[in-house]
Amino acid sequence: MTQGILSIDQGTTSTRAIVFDKQGKALCSAQQEFTQYFPKNGWVEHDPEEIWQSTLTVCHSVLDQAQALGVTVEGIGITNQRETTLVWDRATGKPIYNAIVWQDRRTAAMCADLAAKGEQITAKTGLLLDPYFSATKIAWILDHVPNARSQAEQGELAFGTIDSFLIWRLTQGQAHVTDTTNASRTNLFNIHTMAWDDSLCAWFNVPSSVLPRVLDCAADFGTSAPGVLPLSLPIAGVAGDQQAALVGQCGFNKGALKSTYGTGCFALLNTGTEPLASTSKLLTTVGYSLNGQAYYALEGSIFTAGANVQWLRDGIQVIDNAKASQVLAESLDYDHGVVLVPAFAGLGAPHWKPNARAAIYGMTRDTSNAHFARAALEAVCYQTNDLLHAMAQDGVQSTSVLVDGGMVANDWFCQFLADILQVDIQRPVNMESTALGAAFLAGLQLGLYANVEEISELKAIERVFTPSIDPHIRKACLARWQAAVQSTLLFAQANG
Ligand code: ADP
Repeated sequence: MTQGILSIDQGTTSTRAIVFDKQGKALCSAQQEFTQYFPKNGWVEHDPEEIWQSTLTVCHSVLDQAQALGVTVEGIGITNQRETTLVWDRATGKPIYNAIVWQDRRTAAMCADLAAKGEQITAKTGLLLDPYFSATKIAWILDHVPNARSQAEQGELAFGTIDSFLIWRLTQGQAHVTDTTNASRTNLFNIHTMAWDDSLCAWFNVPSSVLPRVLDCAADFGTSAPGVLPLSLPIAGVAGDQQAALVGQCGFNKGALKSTYGTGCFALLNTGTEPLASTSKLLTTVGYSLNGQAYYALEGSIFTAGANVQWLRDGIQVIDNAKASQVLAESLDYDHGVVLVPAFAGLGAPHWKPNARAAIYGMTRDTSNAHFARAALEAVCYQTNDLLHAMAQDGVQSTSVLVDGGMVANDWFCQFLADILQVDIQRPVNMESTALGAAFLAGLQLGLYANVEEISELKAIERVFTPSIDPHIRKACLARWQAAVQSTLLFAQANG
């Protein structure tokens, strides 16, 4: 009889469920997209009931498939879009407002009002004071839903990120819990004491009565109540999506660096048991925690990565599908001269310039679709190089990068990444690192694995891309990129 773990990957645009075997092989999967709501400029919401229904649908589907395959599912791991915020009524389990999604900027003014506390907030949380994180979103809900604040003061409301909400629903209200990685993205969690922080709660005006209990990533999060799923299963592993990808890539050693190239790009560097404060505007975050020990990470985020390719396809329509970007990019030489700075949604780390906007430099009359495609892919490599440079300034030099996400199916992209970063790029056999990480964590708790060393033995690399570019060409590419970024920042300044 094959043993399996059900991994629920609740992402920003879809919910996925995958059953993995003990070797980390995906045995069956199901996926469902759900609606994105944009009620006002800069606002992004999800319907919590739609998220819950999509979760039930994909879980039922994979559990049925697993049964047909003769697989015994032992437990559940959950990974989720981070920071997205929900508040629900403890008595009814019904959210009092839609989920406010991580991309939502409605609380920018509240962050501006708190600016004087910015440094203290960063010192405690490792994050920046930004609407991206959960705290101001919770306060917004409590202040805008009638009676919510008084209900919260009386202990009648619960806050949770998506993991917490799903566990509440799966256990039918028996467990109000989260894990350290999700907690570390709220701006309310002190990453040094590894506990909710009273001063942060006071500054953000969030009553501590709404907060979930925080557990390690491999822990007893509760058991799904009878009838919710075809089986009652222990929920044994939880981590936010980027941290789960670090675990799924077996990035357990200090210095391990993983970079996920989906819609955006998130690079996490394992810094071991010490949180490393960044001098380069990287975030310090909990990478994972096991048996009461936290392992920290430095995180750099690029807002648009695969989204550049979506823009090529759906925006300017120069390609029919994402794959076509590779053929076009390959058709040009290194000295094609066109640079795209893809600041479509501002520039993330290490610049953090929300008002920067995208720009293209170096066009001539023979500039073609190929130039756009090539420049869009190159830009993601240059931006990753800027992140690695920031990490090096913070004292950590990497010699290889573990990559995953939709974009790394593109061989040309992976090779150019190796060329620009001057490190080996390791592409895993299983590119579903996020879901796999949640399964590994649950497997640890359930005793399928004795320790992380045993998990590391399962690491399977499909291909390694090694640097091969002429150093002069690389230097010229980087010089063009830096000039283009400086010009873009200058334009952002002039543009207000
Ligand atoms: P997410 O989880 O954020 O939805 P995925 O990891 O599923 O993202 O990756 C999807 C992204 O990868 C899309 O933005 C798509 O444009 C990009 N992508 C997929 N295949 C390729 C390819 N062959 N070359 C470049 N980009 C690609």
